[in-house]
Amino acid sequence: MGENFITLTIGRQKNIALIAHDNKKADLIAWCEENKEILKNHFLCGTGTTARMITDKTGLPVRGYNSGPLGGDQQIGAKIVEGKVDFIIFFSDPLTAQPHDPDVKALLRIAQVYDIPIANNRASADFMITSRYMTEEYEHEIINFQKNIKERSETL
Ligand code: PGA
Repeated sequence: MGENFITLTIGRQKNIALIAHDNKKADLIAWCEENKEILKNHFLCGTGTTARMITDKTGLPVRGYNSGPLGGDQQIGAKIVEGKVDFIIFFSDPLTAQPHDPDVKALLRIAQVYDIPIANNRASADFMITSRYMTEEYEHEIINFQKNIKERSETL
């Protein structure tokens, strides 16, 4: 309880969330097809439509949450907090306004808080998927939230 940070481990088998905005869905499906041999070794999930389309087009099993605009990004954010998502490929569309922009920002923020690797374009995704850490465990330092709560509850 004394430490400000705790060490968490991203396992050899990653819990990968896949998300694509509508204009980027075809790109993400193509990327999944290209990287199928790697992706099939991990646990995949995604926002509803993206997950369904990847499974339909590539045969990869992808657990679907709600559609993004209906809360799917928030569900994936919650899974990060629970330690159940530890790697994200998110092909977002920088040229189109999204109704759920606050949810997208929230997901990026919580991924940053929990030091989760998150790719928001193809080049980042290519660098991440070819990293040596894809087949190794990776230890990272996360804020000790229990200590944080204890201190806040005692001082505020
Ligand atoms: P979708 O959601 O996969 O249900 O289309 C993606 C998003 O826009 O966040």
